[in-house]
Amino acid sequence: MSSVLALSDKHALSVERLTVAFPHGDRLLVALQGATLEVKRGELVCIVGASGSGKSTLLNILAGLDRPTNGRVHVHGRVALMFQEAALLPWLTAAGNVELPLELRGIKSRQRRELARELLGRVHLAGFEKRRPHELSGGMKQRVALARALAQDADVLLMDEPFAALDAITRDLLHEELERIWKETGLTVLFVTHNAREAVRLGDRVLVFTSRPGRVAHEVKVGLPRPRHLDSPDLAVIAGRITERLKQEVALGN
Ligand code: ADP
Ligand code: MG
Repeated sequence: MSSVLALSDKHALSVERLTVAFPHGDRLLVALQGATLEVKRGELVCIVGASGSGKSTLLNILAGLDRPTNGRVHVHGRVALMFQEAALLPWLTAAGNVELPLELRGIKSRQRRELARELLGRVHLAGFEKRRPHELSGGMKQRVALARALAQDADVLLMDEPFAALDAITRDLLHEELERIWKETGLTVLFVTHNAREAVRLGDRVLVFTSRPGRVAHEVKVGLPRPRHLDSPDLAVIAGRITERLKQEVALGN
């Protein structure tokens, strides 16, 4: 493992001078360069960055799907990853999709069914257990994906633009849902988005990435009380500043 780093008790994950380069023809494409950040246990941290700034690369590395070229990452405990597409297995029911990670955890069939039902209830999908993915709306599919992530009993939930493809009202509801579940479970959440408002709606902190190669350019502590509203003036002011910053980063990167 390339990622052995002493982690203080209060941190759920840390990234230290992480550089990731991909082969690109006869050259290297540097996706991340010297990215450093820490997330405390139970914290909800958002990353905003332009497209191509290495956000997905960072999450893939934290999830162990890719390796650092340089630098170190450490995650305390298990991670679950959620993407923009729900990526449900189409031949399984909603419950079947949630049961899959439970089965991988070695949980017996009867308890699996009970747990899947309970988890689907948690994301407000009671009564939809037997539906198959094609019978669910985009928002419902992401709820199933969230229940499936919770079924992994992870300590850290990595979310890669999970609500980017949803309509505004559905996204609003899922923000509430995620916030509620985060509070109930004490999960650590690292949430990636390119939407500054969404980041301020959800995050205890917002980390603004530079354009490629990505690293943290700026950190904003969001002091607003929860629950927050996407349309509130206070939120809009902070999001506006972040958007300005992002524009500068994009201009510098071009
Ligand atoms: P973001 O999620 O911020 O949009 P990504 O992490 O997906 O950015 O990508 C950052 C850069 O790295 C992009 O230029 C992308 O094309 C490149 N990249 C990502 N993954 C790979 C890979 N597996 N091989 C080659 N290039 C990659
Ligand atoms: Mg991405």
